[in-house]
Amino acid sequence: MCAIVGIYGNEDASKLASAALFAMQHRGHEATGISSGGDDSKKIFTVKNRGYVRDVFDENAFSVLKGNMAIGHNRYSTAGSDSTFDAQPIHAKYKLGEISIVHNGNLVNKNEVRQRLIDEGSIFQTGMDTENLIHLIAKSSANRLRDRIIKSLPKLKGAYNFIIQSRSKLFVMRDAHGIRPLSLGKLRSGGYIVASETCCFDLVDAEFIRDVKPGEMLIFSKDNNEPESIMLDNTKEFRPCAFEYIYFARPDSDINGINVYSARENMGALLAKNDAALLNADMVIPVPDSGVPAALGYAKESGIPFELGIIRNHYVGRTFIEPTQAMRNMKVKMKLSPMRSLIEGKSLVVIDDSVVRGTTSKRIVKMLKDAGAAEVHFRVASPMIQHPCFYGIDTPTKEELINAMMTKDEVQEFIEADSLEYLSIDNLKESLGRDTNYSMVSFDGDYFVV
Ligand code: 5GP
Ligand code: MG
Repeated sequence: MCAIVGIYGNEDASKLASAALFAMQHRGHEATGISSGGDDSKKIFTVKNRGYVRDVFDENAFSVLKGNMAIGHNRYSTAGSDSTFDAQPIHAKYKLGEISIVHNGNLVNKNEVRQRLIDEGSIFQTGMDTENLIHLIAKSSANRLRDRIIKSLPKLKGAYNFIIQSRSKLFVMRDAHGIRPLSLGKLRSGGYIVASETCCFDLVDAEFIRDVKPGEMLIFSKDNNEPESIMLDNTKEFRPCAFEYIYFARPDSDINGINVYSARENMGALLAKNDAALLNADMVIPVPDSGVPAALGYAKESGIPFELGIIRNHYVGRTFIEPTQAMRNMKVKMKLSPMRSLIEGKSLVVIDDSVVRGTTSKRIVKMLKDAGAAEVHFRVASPMIQHPCFYGIDTPTKEELINAMMTKDEVQEFIEADSLEYLSIDNLKESLGRDTNYSMVSFDGDYFVV
C-alpha cells in the first residue's frame, strides 16, 4: 500500500502535495510526510509524523515546507513496525548534496541488499527497504545523480515506485513490471503532479496526462519544460496488481485506463451469474465501504434489491490495519452496525470485497444473525487469498490466511454463513479485461518477480 506524490514547478507545491495525500489517505494512515525545496533555496525541508494528513500538515508545517517542488508519502501500517522512524520521506546528505525519497511498494530482495550494504559498512536508521536505494546512490561513483539512480535500480527487485527530490530536480521511477500504479498530471495552476492514484487530481485541479510507464524514469528540471523520459527497462511483462482494483484504490481512480468503480461492479455482476437465481434472497447488502460497488453490480445483474443493511461509523479507520487480533475484533464492532428493522426475518446476500483472516466476515454474519436475519449468504468479490503477497500488499503469513488453512466448506462453517462463494480467478480476469496479465499472487501464487 502507501501513497506517494510529487509536485514540480508550482509555488504552492507543499500545499498541493498535502491535498493530494489527503485524497489518498485510504492508502495508509499510520504516518505521513512531505519534503519540499527548489527555488534556488539549495535546501530540502522535511516535515513528517505519525497520524493523519489533516493533523500533521498545519500552517506551521507549511511555513517550513517552502519551495516550488515537493514529494509526499502516506504510510500504511505493517504489523510490528509502528514508529515515526519509519515515516517517509527519508532525507539524506551525501557526496553530491541532499536528497529526499519516497517509495511505494516492496523490494523482495531487501534483506540480501541490506546485509551486503551492512557488511560493507553502511549504517541504517530505519527498518524500511527504501533506505537501500539511498545507500546504493550514496556509494555509487557516478558524477550525476541520475546516473547513480540508473546504476542502482537494477540491484533492486520487486515492486517500486520511487520519487526522489534533489535540491533542484525531481526523479520518478516505476518498476519494470508496473506492479503499483503511478500517474502523471498537469496542474492547471502550473507545473506537474505524479501520484499513486488519479483520485487526487480533481482536488488539486490537475489534468490527467498518462500513467508513468513500467520501467520508465521521468526527470523534472529547469532544463526542460516537459519532464524528460528515459526508458530504463522495457524487457519485462506489464503485471499491474489486481488487488488495487479489488480493494486498495479509491473507486474514482482510473488505473491503467480502467476505472476502479466499474471494475468492482463487473466483479459483483460476474459473482451474481449462476448464483443469485439459486438463492431466492430478499436483498443484497454491501459490507461498507469496500463492498459497495461489487454489491451494486451483483444487485443490478440479479435484480435483487440493493439495501444498506449495515451502517458504517465513519470515524473509525480501516479495520485491517490494527496490529493485534483483539484490536481488530473490537474495531469491526465499533465500525459496523446492523439495520435491524430492514433485515429482520430476511434472507440476505452479503457482499464484501475480500476475506483475508476471516475476522470481518465472521463478525458480520454474527451481527446480522443477532439482528434477526433469517439467512446470510456471504459472497466475496475476489478469489480465495491463499498466498502471501510480497509486492507491496501487507498480506499476513500463510498461517493467518483463512483460505490457505481451511477449505471453503470449513470457512463457511467458521464464519457461520448459510452459504459462501468467491469470485473465480477466471471471472476476476474477465472483470479486469483479458488484454493485461494482472499480478494475482495472493490468489494464484505466481511469484513472477525473479
Ligand atoms: P479479514 O477480516 O478477513 O481479515 O479482512 C477482510 C476485510 O479487510 C475486508 O472487509 C476487506 O475490505 C479488508 N481488507 C482486505 N485487504 C486489506 C488490506 O490489505 N488492508 C486493509 N486495511 N484492509 C483490507
Ligand atoms: Mg472492508
